Amino acid sequence: MVIKTIDILKNEIPIEEESLIITEDVKAGLVLVDIINGFCTVGAGNLAPREPNRQISEMIEESKRLARLFCDKKWPILAFLDSHQPHKLEHPYPPHCITGTDESNLVPALRWLEKEQNVTIRRKDCYDGYIGSFQEDGSNVFVDWVKNNKIQTLLVVGVCTDICVLDFVCSTLSAKNRGFLNPLEQVVVYSKGCATFDFPASMARNSKDISPHPQVTYNKS
Ligand SMILES: [Zn+2]
Repeated sequence: MVIKTIDILKNEIPIEEESLIITEDVKAGLVLVDIINGFCTVGAGNLAPREPNRQISEMIEESKRLARLFCDKKWPILAFLDSHQPHKLEHPYPPHCITGTDESNLVPALRWLEKEQNVTIRRKDCYDGYIGSFQEDGSNVFVDWVKNNKIQTLLVVGVCTDICVLDFVCSTLSAKNRGFLNPLEQVVVYSKGCATFDFPASMARNSKDISPHPQVTYNKS
């Protein structure tokens, strides 16, 4: 039997998963957080999985299914792609997703999104897609995307659940609560469409560049 992180959390804190039904009369937007080779494709880089990983495969499958549905309906999608300049690395992580490399591109299962009219691609060089959406003139690609598309319900999927997804959702909720994101009403994280990377403590001991980050899925017989 496999116990997932969400099951462990449910035993420790009051957390409930709910179903979401998106109807045609509510404007919905889909945000894909960093579903790129550098975090998801086996052997693609320093923060990529070292071997096939079921949590990541499931996240990609669910994200692809949702993206297909949104594209069929011509509903808006925004994809964040972690992309760093070689001279500007991201502490405390080893070099990853350098601009211009395949690490910072969408995974093969989602690459087709680049050609879709309803998809906005935003390359960012920090964990938080909200902060990473600010441009030099002070405008914000994500805020403009929400407002221009009149998005009321935001659906979020991607990787890593506890870093880039979490940071983006927290900033978005704060901005929404302060009234910066009207008409946005709901921010929904789809748990099956999220994953995190697995770098257990045993591996981290041999590396000075990266902290341990276990995926926390226990196998119990
Ligand atoms: Zn990064």
